[in-house]
Amino acid sequence: MSRPLVVGNWKMFGDRQMVAGLVGAVAEAAAARAGVAIAVCPPFPYLSQAAAVLQGSALRLGAQNLAVEASGAYTGEVSGAMLRDVGCHYVIVGHSERRSLFGEDSALVARKFRAALAADLTPILCVGEQLAEREAGDTERVIAAQLDAVLELCGEQALAGAVIAYEPVWAIGTGKVATPEQAQAVHRFIRQRVSAAGSTPTILYGGSVKPDNAAGLFAQPDVDGGLIGGASLVADQFLSICDAALPR
Ligand code: PEP
Repeated sequence: MSRPLVVGNWKMFGDRQMVAGLVGAVAEAAAARAGVAIAVCPPFPYLSQAAAVLQGSALRLGAQNLAVEASGAYTGEVSGAMLRDVGCHYVIVGHSERRSLFGEDSALVARKFRAALAADLTPILCVGEQLAEREAGDTERVIAAQLDAVLELCGEQALAGAVIAYEPVWAIGTGKVATPEQAQAVHRFIRQRVSAAGSTPTILYGGSVKPDNAAGLFAQPDVDGGLIGGASLVADQFLSICDAALPR
């Protein structure tokens, strides 16, 4: 496995004061945690400020969404090139909140994934099943379809250097975390599916990761780190999760 990765997804939270304090604290702390790659994804308006705060540190910057198109008359959209221009390294695509609240289907997510690659960004592709799909025994079928949409549009090698985040929808923001065994089983499935196409992506778990459950999840052989929502908004919690990802 390559270096573990922990990414904070701030969602639509934060302000300039929080960027200065939280990004500053994490950037400073990253130096003492070279064994884990760390990134934060604040909302669009704060990306430039965050880039300035973390400059010169090991902390990387990501965005939470991007446009399919490279440029043009698309009012309200933000292109991958713009994200790259302000210092982003990563961009999240296909988060379940975008799929369920903003109608993004797997075909659109695949186009966003392609746009990220075209802009020289590393996409963090989110996949995951709803509770009803898990209870119906459909988890693998749902995730395979989400992965296949990207593989079909972008080619077999598209996931080679990408990051995949397994985020069971029922665990996001609910406090209901997947057990380490549940996470491992799905991560293994994802790894086998994409390694058949020759890819070795970094596979993160996301969904109510907290300081007290992170170590158990990260100890699983196919869990390469985490995508963290709520706990990424508090420096102590986020850093304690980063510590749990450090190789032992
Ligand atoms: C997320 O938003 O990607 C997420 C995993 O949120 P939380 O950690 O709050 O469940």
